[in-house]
Amino acid sequence: MPGPEVIVADITTLDVDAIVNAANTSLLGGGGVDGAIHRAAGPELLAACRALGGCPTGEARITPGFQLPARWVIHAVGPVWQGGGADEPALLRAAYRHSFALAREHGVVSIAFPAISTGVYAYPKDAAAAIAVDEMRTQAGAFERIIVCCFSESDAEPYRRLLAP
Ligand code: ADP
Repeated sequence: MPGPEVIVADITTLDVDAIVNAANTSLLGGGGVDGAIHRAAGPELLAACRALGGCPTGEARITPGFQLPARWVIHAVGPVWQGGGADEPALLRAAYRHSFALAREHGVVSIAFPAISTGVYAYPKDAAAAIAVDEMRTQAGAFERIIVCCFSESDAEPYRRLLAP
């Protein structure tokens, strides 16, 4: 049961049981990591998402990964940063927690997360990383691999600092 690992990569390339998508409430695709996942998974992913009928902020939904190496995609909806007074920390934590719960229900033992809410949704990166790492540490016993998949070295830095021995 190793602790969370930090890597810099395109999450769509990872051969894990599940990758997590930073989705929006429509689940109908968007930019950033969401767009990349939909492009790599193929059009069946959009059809599967359409059938789900959306997802409230702070929750998550699961679909197959279709053409991705990952078997599953867990679509987590993090909060849009509105200055911190709109329950953003609890909603971000809930998005991670729901994702882990769905993963466990589906027998997932290896899972990779992007930095949910820290792109277009503008959540401050250090604060988001602290919440993510806290939830990951809580779940570590239930998974063989928990991966934080950052898109750049600078995005990885707060995670490396928090996870340093
Ligand atoms: P949100 O709307 O939740 O803020 P974004 O997709 O805009 O989601 O950004 C979330 C994080 O995902 C950002 O750190 C962004 O750099 C990163 N990201 C974008 N594309 C990829 C990708 N292909 N793999 C991993 N991370 C990615």
